[in-house]
Amino acid sequence: MIKQAIFLVGGAGTRLGSITRSTPKPLLELAPGTAFLDLLIDEAARHGFTDILLLSGYLGGQVEQRYHGRRVRDSRLRVLREEEPAGTAGALRRVSAELDPWFLLANGDSFFDINLRRLASVPRGSALGCLALRHVQDTSRFGGVTLEGDRIVDFSEKRGERGPGLINGGLYCLSREIQDRLPAIGSLEGQVFPSLAREGLLLGIEQSGYFIDIGLPESLDQARRCLPQLMTRPAAFLDRDGILNVDHGYTHRPEDLTWIPEAREAVRDLNDAGYFVFVVTNQAGIAHGFYTEAAMDDFHAEMARQLADVGAHVDAFYHCPYHPEASVARLKTPAHADRKPNPGMILRALRDWPVRPAGSFLIGDRDTDIEAASRAGLPGYLYRGGSLRMTVNQAWAACAGPRPKLGGELTCAS
Ligand SMILES: [Mg+2]
Repeated sequence: MIKQAIFLVGGAGTRLGSITRSTPKPLLELAPGTAFLDLLIDEAARHGFTDILLLSGYLGGQVEQRYHGRRVRDSRLRVLREEEPAGTAGALRRVSAELDPWFLLANGDSFFDINLRRLASVPRGSALGCLALRHVQDTSRFGGVTLEGDRIVDFSEKRGERGPGLINGGLYCLSREIQDRLPAIGSLEGQVFPSLAREGLLLGIEQSGYFIDIGLPESLDQARRCLPQLMTRPAAFLDRDGILNVDHGYTHRPEDLTWIPEAREAVRDLNDAGYFVFVVTNQAGIAHGFYTEAAMDDFHAEMARQLADVGAHVDAFYHCPYHPEASVARLKTPAHADRKPNPGMILRALRDWPVRPAGSFLIGDRDTDIEAASRAGLPGYLYRGGSLRMTVNQAWAACAGPRPKLGGELTCAS
């Protein structure tokens, strides 16, 4: 499972004029107290990238002060500063010793709303990298990319050539082996990627999520207008035992994980559609002393690994270890607010995350699941066996109309 995400945040942002004289571009605010980079980091963190590196340069002290050593959800942040500008390829080369075998690399001045786990799970064969590409009506500002099958065969140098086509979305999954190809000073986009493409070593996947690059004053304005609203998402709340994994009775050993048919694909559909996915699970086995919370965490980590294999992820697991008949004294509570049918776990997720209620729903296999959803003001749907993917699609049809497309319906007037 790829766990490293690296952000290139060293650029000077000269096209933005005076506003980047005292603030590095990725630290420009979208709203009071919220930097553009905060949003990018939060996206990586919720997709399970726990080792986050920020490669800073221009005004790097500010980046270091804001982020170095911080934790965001389960992720740890480090800032690595370069003293002299070396371009995107040079910046990456300087941190060669830090690179995992495969890692996510992202531009710190653009946002592409995609399922990052899908990018990280593309079968790579002998390729050294895969780029997320976006179709746009006019490639002239960016330069075009030519895709043949799953391979990138050409990068058009001809900026200014108008017309629809694919562009580089600024999000890459790369092999550490790329380090041998990095110049001391130079550009990934202008030098390294075109050369890899000529050798057939670069893959591309077209993605349709919302894309914005804050390099120009008008696009920064648009980001400020649109992103705070776009960052709210509907959520799917999923019970765990009997919905994601087969319920063997107090299931907690990683080796006992058996997926419900098409459960992982259902989660990936939700991820692709831009939904938050939360697990809300009563874990009476902890209350009864059958296993510990640490053992449950190991089980969830195994679920995350196996989800990542297919390009899926869960944003957060909420569990209730309390039970009225608990044998572990501290967990004995008559009717804990978190224990379904009480809605505590759902209400907590609604406080913890920017959830858009419209389109949100729960899927469970017991009446207590459905009741918890209803007490939280959400529709609940009973899974009755078969493909979980079908049930998710039925829930979509019932509560949100036709299945939404990531970014597709979240249009924002520019
Ligand atoms: Mg269940």
